[in-house]
Amino acid sequence: MTDLPQGVQIKVKGIVQGVGFRPFVFGLATQLHLTGWVRNSSSGVDILLNGSIDGLQAFLDQLTSHPPALAKIDLIISNPVPPQDFADFTILPSLVEEGQFVPISPDMSICADCARELFDPTDHRYRYPFINCTNCGPRFSIIQDIPYDRPKTTMAGFKMCPVCDKEYHDPLNRRFHAQPIACDDCGPKVWFESKGEHLAAREDAIQMARTWLRAGKIIAVKGIGGFHLACDAKNDKAVTALRNRKKRSDKAFALMAFSEEIIQRYCEVSPAEAELLESPQHPIVLLETRGNSDLSANIAPGQASLGFMLPYTPLHLLLLEPAPDFPEIFVMTSGNTSEEPVAYTDADALNRLAGIADGFLMNDRPIHMRVDDSVYRLIKEKPYPIRRSRGYAPDALQLPLPALPTLACGAELKNTFCLTQESYAFVSHHIGDLENYETLASFESGIEHYKRLFRVEPQLIAADLHPDYLSTKYAQELAKRTALPFIQVQHHHAHLAACLADNGWASLDPVIGLTFDGTGLGTDGVIWGGEVLVGGYAGFERRYHLSEAPLPGGEAAIRHPARIALAYLDHFGLEWNPEFAAVEALCAQDRIMLQSMLSHKINTPLTTSMGRLFDAVSALIGIRATATYEGQAAIELETACDASVPEAYSIPFSKEEILISPLFQQIVKDLEQNTSVGTISARFHNGLARMAADLCSQIRSEKGIRAVAFSGGVWQNKTLLLKTFYLLEQRGFTVLLHRQVPTNDGGICLGQVLIANQILNN
Ligand code: ZN
Ligand code: ZN
Ligand code: FE
Repeated sequence: MTDLPQGVQIKVKGIVQGVGFRPFVFGLATQLHLTGWVRNSSSGVDILLNGSIDGLQAFLDQLTSHPPALAKIDLIISNPVPPQDFADFTILPSLVEEGQFVPISPDMSICADCARELFDPTDHRYRYPFINCTNCGPRFSIIQDIPYDRPKTTMAGFKMCPVCDKEYHDPLNRRFHAQPIACDDCGPKVWFESKGEHLAAREDAIQMARTWLRAGKIIAVKGIGGFHLACDAKNDKAVTALRNRKKRSDKAFALMAFSEEIIQRYCEVSPAEAELLESPQHPIVLLETRGNSDLSANIAPGQASLGFMLPYTPLHLLLLEPAPDFPEIFVMTSGNTSEEPVAYTDADALNRLAGIADGFLMNDRPIHMRVDDSVYRLIKEKPYPIRRSRGYAPDALQLPLPALPTLACGAELKNTFCLTQESYAFVSHHIGDLENYETLASFESGIEHYKRLFRVEPQLIAADLHPDYLSTKYAQELAKRTALPFIQVQHHHAHLAACLADNGWASLDPVIGLTFDGTGLGTDGVIWGGEVLVGGYAGFERRYHLSEAPLPGGEAAIRHPARIALAYLDHFGLEWNPEFAAVEALCAQDRIMLQSMLSHKINTPLTTSMGRLFDAVSALIGIRATATYEGQAAIELETACDASVPEAYSIPFSKEEILISPLFQQIVKDLEQNTSVGTISARFHNGLARMAADLCSQIRSEKGIRAVAFSGGVWQNKTLLLKTFYLLEQRGFTVLLHRQVPTNDGGICLGQVLIANQILNN
C-alpha cells in the first residue's frame, strides 16, 4: 500500500536560513519524486510534501542524518495531512510572522568548494577575494536586521551582475539566496594603501601586500569581523616592532599558516586538534610547540603553546598562498592597541592603526558588527573554549530550565552578555574588558543589536554583585529606567551555574563547584576567588575557601605579582629573605612603602583569590615579578612545571578554610634548599590537585554529592585541570567541564541568567 500518495507537513527550527536549506530541501524532494513546497517563515522553515510513504520516510531520514553543512537543526515537527494536488515541488516566498525570531548563523570560514573555485583559472570567481556560497562566508558580521535578506546586510549597496543574479535565483545552485554572493564584476574590491595614498587595486593590491609582508613590514588587513595586524612570524624585527607599536602587553600573538601541514612543523597537532582547526568555525587553536623553532621569541613570551588558525576567508588564502621564498607563518593579531577594542570600520582603522601598520589591505565591504577571532584548546580530545566569538556567536545555546526573556550583563573582564528568548540563550560574541569608553560603547550597542535581531524584550535584568563593574552600572540604570526586576548575582555562583548550564544540567540538584578564579566580589565584601561551593542554580553554600591574604593596591595588584608575594609572606609570618627573587624585585623604597601599607592596612583589601595565589608563587620563586596582563605570572608558572615530578605540597584544610600558610612554608624551605623552579611549580600544581580532590571526597562523604563542576579563569591552566580531573575520575566523581562557553568571565552571563530566574521565582 506504500504507493498511495500521502501528505506531511514539516516545521524545522534552528539555524536553517542563510545556510542553503531550501535548495537542499528542493533537491531532495525532487530527487525523491515528492511534490509540494518549502518556504522560510519567521520561526524557521516550513515544508509541505506529497508522495509515497517510502519517499516521505526517506526524506525525513535524509533531513535528520545529512542536513546542509552549516544548518543546526533544533527541532523537526512533522504531522500527516491529507494529500493535495501539487504538480511539482516549488520554493514559496518567505512568510513573515509577527514577533517570531530565527537564530542567525555565525560567520563561517570558506568552504572546500569555494576554495577550489578560488584557485581554478576557469572559474568565474578565480582569485576573487570575496567568493562565498550558502555554505560559507560572512553572516552575523554583515547583518543589520532580520529577516536575513541582502537589503538588510552590508551587501545592500552592491547590485548583482547577471551571472551572480542567475545563480542567486537558481534553486539548484550552491549560491541560491546566498546573500553575500558577489564576483569581481559586481562585488566588493580590495585595494592597498599607505599613508593615505592609494597604491594598488585588486590582484595587484594583494601582491603588493605580499611583497611588503615579505620585506618585514606590518600590514593591517580588513577581514570578516575586524582588522588584523599581520607580519612575518619569523622576522624578529617585524614582530618586535609590532609588539612595541601595539604597546605594553606581552599577550601572545595569534598565528596563521596556509595549511595544517605547515602548522605541524611547529606544533604537535592531534587528530582532534586538526579537526577543530579545519572546522567551519576555524578558531584559533592553542597547540603545544615542538620547541626549537625559528619563530620570533616575541610571539608568545613565556608560553609553551602557540595559537594557530587556518585562513578562513578567500582573502587570507590569496594573501598567504605559498610561493618560493615567501614566509609560511604570519602573525595575525587583532588590530588594536593593547586596551582598546579591535578596529572594524575603515575610518577607525586608518586612524587608530596608522602608528602601527605600514600599509593597509582594505576593501569596501562594510563590517556591521565587530567580531574577534575565537580561541579554543583541546581538553580530553574535545574543544574547550577560551574565547567564544567568530564562528560561534550568535549561535543559540539551549537553556536547561525555563527562563523569562532575560538580559544578563556579565562581568567586567572578557565581557560577554546574554539575552534569552524561549529556550534559547544568545551569548554574545567577545566584547572585551569593560575598562574604557570604546568597549563600553560596543557592549551597549551590542545589546541593542541582539535585542533587535532576536526580537527580545527582556523582562528581567541580571548583573554581577560588584557595584563598580561598568556592566553592573549599566544594568542598574537600565532597570531603573524600565522598572524591570534587577538581580545581582555573586560572581562565583554565576561561574558554577554557567558550567552547569553549559553541560545541560536540568535540575536544581546541588553539585560541588570548584570555582578557582582571579577575583570576584563575595557576599561578605571580601574579594573571593579560591572557592569550593556546594550549590546549583537556586543557591549555594560557600563550603571551603582559601585563607584570606592582603592584596596590596587592590585590583592593581594583578600587574605586581612580587608585591603580592611579599604581602602573603608577611601575612603568614614569613621573612622577606633578601635572596628571594620577589624581594630582590622591589627596591628598598618600595619595600618600605609596601611594609607600611600592610601594617596600616592601607589599600590592602583581603582576598581568597586562587589567581593571585598563582601570581604570588610565580613571583616568589623568581618566574615573574611584574605582569603586563592578568594571568601572565600564572601562565609562566604553569609553563615552568616539571611533569616528571610526582611529589606534592601538603595543603591542609580546616572546617571551612584551605590553609595556605603551610604551603608558603614548604615553598620557602624549597627555595632555601635551591630546589628548581620546575620542581616547585610541579609540587604546587600537584598539591592543589590533591587538595581539590580531598575536599571533594570530604564533601561527598558528608552529602553524597558526586558531580564536580570546574569553573573560573584558573581552569585555563591545562596542567592543573588534567591533574585534578585525573584524581577525581579515579575516585569515581563525574567532572563537568566548560564546553560551550569559556571557563573564564566570558561565561559568567549564562550563569547569571539561570540564577536570576531562580531567585525571581522564589
Ligand atoms: Zn562556499
Ligand atoms: Zn557578480
Ligand atoms: Fe571570574
